[in-house]
Amino acid sequence: MAGLKIRNLKKSFGGNAVINNISFDVREGEFCILLGPSGCGKTTVLRLIAGLEHQDEGEIFIGDREVSTLTPGERDIAMVFQSYALYPHLNAYENMAFPLRIRKRPREETDRKVREAAGLLGIGDLLHRKPKELSGGQRQRVAIGRAIVRSPELFLFDEPLSNLDAKLRGSMRVELAGLHQKLGATMIYVTHDQVEAMTLGEKIILLDRGEIQQTGTPRQIYEKPLNLFVATFIGSPPINLLRGRMVVEGGRTFFRSGELQIDAGAVKQLQQYAGREVTMGVRPESLSPGDGPVKGRVELVEHLGAETLVYVRVGEARVTAKAPPDFEKKTGEKISLAMSERGIHFFCNGVRINRY
Ligand code: ATP
Repeated sequence: MAGLKIRNLKKSFGGNAVINNISFDVREGEFCILLGPSGCGKTTVLRLIAGLEHQDEGEIFIGDREVSTLTPGERDIAMVFQSYALYPHLNAYENMAFPLRIRKRPREETDRKVREAAGLLGIGDLLHRKPKELSGGQRQRVAIGRAIVRSPELFLFDEPLSNLDAKLRGSMRVELAGLHQKLGATMIYVTHDQVEAMTLGEKIILLDRGEIQQTGTPRQIYEKPLNLFVATFIGSPPINLLRGRMVVEGGRTFFRSGELQIDAGAVKQLQQYAGREVTMGVRPESLSPGDGPVKGRVELVEHLGAETLVYVRVGEARVTAKAPPDFEKKTGEKISLAMSERGIHFFCNGVRINRY
């Protein structure tokens, strides 16, 4: 196993810059997620790492070895695709054994590795079946098994769970996390699904339009989004955004939006934004029914069992709050919401300006 180092990677297709000067590191044994909306360049980064595309500029290192100009075969990487890419005429065993056969590994070694990987993935009794005789989840396991048998330096996964139904996706996610722990392998995993990223990743690299917006642990990204894009991309239901202005009075800073006034504290760093237009972001779980500054009317109540989502009209805006399961107010009733200070984020020109 080895870590990965990417430096100043650039790639254009037909004059369109798709990857715009990207640099990042993945530690040996780390599970790193490349996350971002459709078309942001995730797959292109993965294909550049694998050597399936060539960068216009920049360097790629696997461990201490620069692989920027090597062929895919020379890079010692295994890639698992969304489409599984299994050979339809070969059974599960032969599909998994394939990478070792073409490397002319001894028959006994191949057999041992295939059976070990099959055991790890719980498909030991399906090895005689052809892909068309397997379910989506089983096919995906065979594709992962085919990657494991090679013991590569690096695993690359390109949206491997997106063809599965929601329930299976959930259980495969748990299996993949377990597999990562067992193998201790360096894995880079592409997804546009923020829930998958938050639950699987040790590190998330969030991309938009070919640029890194933020790198960090799932918690860092959720709790301290560096900009509005990150704040809105991560979190479900999404973060509430209210547009307003910073006002300084008596040495304290306030955020005003229509009737709403929030004490932003005595934080000096925010005073420089006095008079400026800012956006306040507050996550639904930081807003709950109670004595607080946010006053409005209930628009809709969604009882989800363990919790209740309450949609509240506040002046021109609509916010989502989280309430306990026994919340009883009905549409049209007045409501006030308490806000936890830690859940408040301020943004000016799209960039986060508070530090707590
Ligand atoms: P998705 O989640 O939809 O797969 P992505 O983030 O993986 O998206 P990429 O597949 O990396 O995005 O594509 C990034 C951009 O580069 C897109 O606008 C895409 O149309 C463009 N692109 C990718 N490959 C090529 C190519 N071979 N030729 C021209 N344009 C390409």
